[in-house]
Amino acid sequence: MTITRRGFLSASAALAAMPALTGRALGAAPLPREADIVVIGAGAAGIAAARRVAAAGRKVIVIEADSRIGGRCVTDASSFEVPFDRGARWLHNPDSNPLLKLGRAAGLDVAPVTLGQKIRIGRRFARAGETEEFLAALVRANRAIDEVSRGRLDVSCASALPKDLGDWAATAEFVLGASAFGKDLKDLSAMDKAHAQDRSALIACRQGVGTLIAKLGEALPVSLSTPATRVMWSNRDVAVETQSGKITARAAIVTVSSNVLTNDAIKFTPDFPKRQLDAATKLSLGSYDHIALQLPGNPTGLARDELLIEQSSSTRTAMMLANVGGSSLCVIDVAGSFGRDLSAQGEPAMVAFAKEWLTKLFGSETAAMVKKTAVTRWNAAPYVLGAMSAAVPGALLSRRVLTEPIGNVFLAGEATHETMWGTVDGAWDSGERAADAALRKIGALKDDTVEAPARPARSNRRAPRR
Ligand SMILES: Cc1cc2nc3c(=O)[nH]c(=O)nc-3n(C[C@H](O)[C@H](O)[C@H](O)COP(=O)(O)OP(=O)(O)OC[C@H]3O[C@@H](n4cnc5c(N)ncnc54)[C@H](O)[C@@H]3O)c2cc1C
Repeated sequence: MTITRRGFLSASAALAAMPALTGRALGAAPLPREADIVVIGAGAAGIAAARRVAAAGRKVIVIEADSRIGGRCVTDASSFEVPFDRGARWLHNPDSNPLLKLGRAAGLDVAPVTLGQKIRIGRRFARAGETEEFLAALVRANRAIDEVSRGRLDVSCASALPKDLGDWAATAEFVLGASAFGKDLKDLSAMDKAHAQDRSALIACRQGVGTLIAKLGEALPVSLSTPATRVMWSNRDVAVETQSGKITARAAIVTVSSNVLTNDAIKFTPDFPKRQLDAATKLSLGSYDHIALQLPGNPTGLARDELLIEQSSSTRTAMMLANVGGSSLCVIDVAGSFGRDLSAQGEPAMVAFAKEWLTKLFGSETAAMVKKTAVTRWNAAPYVLGAMSAAVPGALLSRRVLTEPIGNVFLAGEATHETMWGTVDGAWDSGERAADAALRKIGALKDDTVEAPARPARSNRRAPRR
């Protein structure tokens, strides 16, 4: 049976109710010495922040450690017949997502997408009754997590799980935990999960989400391959040190991941406040990786852009997006503690697991048809160090703490968003909000400008599921 439109993605969320220089050009030019606002990181949050500062007519400079724009949004356009998004591949909330319009205005094919969804039980697809049973288990698990989140203590999602999920217990754990947020349910705060906004309505960009973010950043002054090494901050101004020189600015927006923040890769003078450091530690990144396989001839019999999970008995499982955009590209995702251990073993072990998984579900002939492969290992990416932030039990308030200004330094990035953490949308929104806060701090934005209808407060329009 094919799961209906409100399949496991929605069931798992349901019932809880300027200027001109391009990045490359600036990379070759000497680093500017001054700006009104300096942005650290050219991922979705940094690009959103910089566009907003530039739109306010203020001088902005973005410094990016990596040699490209996009951070966790990166599209490999050459390995397969269709673009392969190595990081994020979907956006959310077609009704309110500004990236949809921006992407279209940039000439890209950005549109809402509905995915088919199927479950495999050993060598066969789940029957209608079994699928119903699974969806019911998912809904009950979600409801239990939601109920426990209304208590006084912020406990783990796993502690709330009903004990009678039977054969579907491990699958429900995978779908609600690792595959959604990069962490197992035992490592996830029930309160934080209950605040997550519904993420079941998806948007796809045919050219890739990485292409989209790079395109939106291409007119900004981005200095690539320029890691920030130190931020000197006060209530009046900031200075950011890099190996190519120092930039002084009136404010800074720091968008690096929570793991990069806690890894001490960027020194702060005075020290990064302990309160925010603790918050970032509690919002550490989970593990999520793609194993991309070219599988010609569609031996799985799955439809275009169809998601597949299996009835599993342990965390050693995966999810597959089959026949991406009607091509022979199939992407197997591994996540959570199992995904972390597997990716630590390296690329050959990841490809071997993918083939073993395909053999278990479709037979060795299918696994033997794999041609080209490509693998991501985000935990080892030095300027990110993981996939997406997920709050540990007890960390509910941490996201808000992380948005508190540190003198004239403002933190942004997916981890700082209270309802859309772990997403490109959340990162984008957080960047815009940090830019507004920084502009206001330097006197470049009056409060009534923020209230203007041109930019409604997206976070207010999206009520948390609770
Ligand atoms: C495999 C995977 C799949 C995902 N799938 C989805 C999805 O389908 N939909 C979705 O919405 N989200 C998804 N996400 C999450 C999404 O990619 C992130 O939430 C989002 O891209 C984060 O953006 P950001 O700007 O907050 O951080 P980042 O993208 O991490 O940007 C931070 C930038 O800072 C740079 N940086 C780091 N250190 C320094 C330094 N010292 N100096 C200067 N620059 C520095 C980094 O290089 C990086 O470019 C996925 C993530 C992964 C890993």
